[in-house]
Amino acid sequence: MKATLAALLVMGSTVAHPAGAEPANGARPVPGTSPVACHGALSVKDGRIVGQHGEPVTLRGMSLFWSQWAPQYYSAETVAWLARDWQVDVVRAAIAAEGTDSARQHFEREFAKASAVVDAAVANGIYVIVDWHAHRAHPEEAERFLTAIAARYGHLPNLIYEDWNEPLRDGVEWSRDVKSYHERVLGAVRAIDPDNLVIAGSPSWSQDVDEAAHDPLPFANLAYTLHYYAGTHRQELRDKADAARAKGLALLVTEFGVVDADGDGPIALEESERWWAWDEAHDIGWMAWSIGDRDESSAALRPGTAPAKWTESDLTEGGKLLRARLRAAASRNPACHASAPGIR
Ligand code: MG
Repeated sequence: MKATLAALLVMGSTVAHPAGAEPANGARPVPGTSPVACHGALSVKDGRIVGQHGEPVTLRGMSLFWSQWAPQYYSAETVAWLARDWQVDVVRAAIAAEGTDSARQHFEREFAKASAVVDAAVANGIYVIVDWHAHRAHPEEAERFLTAIAARYGHLPNLIYEDWNEPLRDGVEWSRDVKSYHERVLGAVRAIDPDNLVIAGSPSWSQDVDEAAHDPLPFANLAYTLHYYAGTHRQELRDKADAARAKGLALLVTEFGVVDADGDGPIALEESERWWAWDEAHDIGWMAWSIGDRDESSAALRPGTAPAKWTESDLTEGGKLLRARLRAAASRNPACHASAPGIR
């Protein structure tokens, strides 16, 4: 999620809710019916993300809100609720790496949040993206954080790395600034974990995938993230993405919104439908921004919502739409999803 420095400062004052200690709900998913039990270790072949049997895998799920401002959702109960009730394939941990209250200053605190989300994803048989949620290059800190994640979790099929959420646009060049960053950080990850999926961002808040396609990274099992907000980004951006696909890049939408790019505004349903149709036509997975309770329309939860056991009245309009979409997608693929327990 794009955020200005002013917004970073204002949002930093948000008061966190204490995370509930109670386990989420019910038993673990039936073995063999979770996304990870179904697809196993992911790889990239011929411009697509595929599972262990070579089948295309479309990962659908939710991104958590910035970790420093929504710590209550970096919890086992939230991840379990998303796996069971929202029927997600994947959850994305947006580990804060900007501002003065981030993983750069508070490594242990933020590493504990990432670990809580990864542990819960593993327990629930879903995939998990550890996202270094930065706009600027902090390669040394990113490398330290993600190699620690790799050392602990790199043997598990669940784990996916995203090492730079949204590089900025002005003065940022793919080949000079961003590709070299990925070579350093993902190269360090690869030295520890040679095979798990890695995801690369591009300039202009991860929209310039066509530029990356002209000078791609050398790593195997690599996909490029594409970010869109349906109220702002339309066919023009799909054209850029199609140009990247035509050159063989695998894409994964690790963050999108059904609203405007500033995270607020009305739901752009028609354009969201166009985007979803495009995603699905090309087996491109999608994760919505966000599981958070900030007072803005991209938040799936209303202010003050607890970490789990959400009722209809806890969800925003966007949250209801996304939950329905995710459950509908899961119901079309029951072999990979435990039966949904129902929300009420
Ligand atoms: Mg591995």
